[in-house]
Amino acid sequence: MEIDKTKPVLVTGATGYVAGWLVKRLLEEGLTVHAAVRNPNDEKKLAHLNTLAAASPGKIVYFAADLLKDGSYSKAMQGCELVYHTASPFTSIVKDPQRDLIDPALLGTENVLKSAMETSSVKRVVVTSSCAAIYSDAIDCVNAPGGVLTEEIWNTNSSLRHQPYSYSKTLAERKAWDMAGSQKQWDLVTINPSLVMGPALNASNVTSESFTILKQIGDGTLKFGAPEMGIGIVDVRDVAEAHFKAGFTPKAKGRYITSAHNTNLFEISQTLVPKFGDKYPLPKSKAPKWLLMLVGPIINKNLSREFIRKNVGIPFKADNSKIKKELGMGFRPLQGTMEDSFQSLIDAKLIQF
Ligand code: NAP
Repeated sequence: MEIDKTKPVLVTGATGYVAGWLVKRLLEEGLTVHAAVRNPNDEKKLAHLNTLAAASPGKIVYFAADLLKDGSYSKAMQGCELVYHTASPFTSIVKDPQRDLIDPALLGTENVLKSAMETSSVKRVVVTSSCAAIYSDAIDCVNAPGGVLTEEIWNTNSSLRHQPYSYSKTLAERKAWDMAGSQKQWDLVTINPSLVMGPALNASNVTSESFTILKQIGDGTLKFGAPEMGIGIVDVRDVAEAHFKAGFTPKAKGRYITSAHNTNLFEISQTLVPKFGDKYPLPKSKAPKWLLMLVGPIINKNLSREFIRKNVGIPFKADNSKIKKELGMGFRPLQGTMEDSFQSLIDAKLIQF
């Protein structure tokens, strides 16, 4: 169905790394963005969005909302035909996975979609899901039919104990499809990105795990070797474009794997060597799996032996043909994405040497 571009568009979690680029795209298109944020008075967190709005034909209006407060997105949704639900915590630093990841992801999705059911203007909801709702560990790619992840597959191997972030995204996306199936007013499209890299519009306030991983590549944490851990990478600007196309392409349907490159952590670290290798302690070699098995769990509680066994030395492979074919998506080359990400980290003084 056609979305009327004169109507406002809701973006939940507008302060986020991914959402920033989506808001930019919408503002450049001349749309009115209803930006739902936890604190509309936090000028530091909103500065980049205000700068974008000032330079674009579009308009931004802020609304206070919290994933855990029932009905708190209803006001922001009034008059919107299109709802982007991006808000969800993406972090590995959690004390209580139920409270810190599962509840905001799952109850938050339920909360936003419940409001969509009660708001008669809504025609389409685009949920930012993740490849994490498709697979848990790289070994799941090997075990998938044909050795490749597709939109048909669901993550059945994460839990509160193992890969809780992936578990949160799986539960949230399943809930979204259940709720979408129970009504006929709006349709649901999900964007399922792999690990997102690329510059941040809000680099000095970034909370996304994407930047935590990037920082570890450059700050010496992996100086003695980076694991050859299978992952997919996609540029944040492409993820924003994928959301835009998912919202405004009438025939968009179902889940869309949004992953540009089948790669691994060691390989992505090496893309940074030519430009930044002389100034920053980038990894020079692969961290052997046996060594990681020995010391991994001591260095970092997320590097459990189970995680290492199921991810290190195992290739990631996802099929991105659906989004290319149905939404006409193209993807940026890995080298530029990684260089731009790292430069953004340096510019924000998040990494110094
Ligand atoms: P991010 O920058 O940390 O953004 C997370 C957003 O969620 C922030 O706007 C945050 O608001 C909001 N949020 C968290 N808890 C909330 C709560 N209780 N109530 C309201 N808002 C809350 O991370 P990101 O990487 O951009 O992630 C955005 C989305 O993309 C998430 O759904 C994530 O799962 C998905 N995704 C990310 C990647 C990736 O590699 N980055 C890959 C696949 C999918 P505050 O600013 O107020 O904290």
